[in-house]
Amino acid sequence: MNEERSKKDGGGEKCYAFPNRPTPGMPVVIDETRCTGCNKCVTICTTDVLVANPEKGKPPIVMYPEECWYAACCVGECPEECLTMRHPLMMRVHFKNKETGEIKRT
Ligand code: SF4
Ligand code: SF4
Repeated sequence: MNEERSKKDGGGEKCYAFPNRPTPGMPVVIDETRCTGCNKCVTICTTDVLVANPEKGKPPIVMYPEECWYAACCVGECPEECLTMRHPLMMRVHFKNKETGEIKRT
């Protein structure tokens, strides 16, 4: 019975997960030319936005971008400094000093 059910459910076959394509946001961008695939960013990410690449040494995969907290822990953890935060538009507010022209971010 269990064996039959296992076959019916595709038991024993590999299951793959892919990033959520329809999600428009990409909270972190990885410079793939510099990433060593150490996965330190994956380990520090408490919400599991990033998952390790199944190919060893390759950059992690941004699997669940909509779960990102934008706290940039992964950016600070990366020894190669190859992660960049890409905040959504509504978080890109800045203020401009009318007299000096200086731009400040919140
Ligand atoms: S900013 Fe935080 S939640 Fe978003 S990917 Fe980096 S560690 Fe994960
Ligand atoms: S911490 Fe940096 S070098 Fe290591 S896997 Fe993440 S992006 Fe790549």
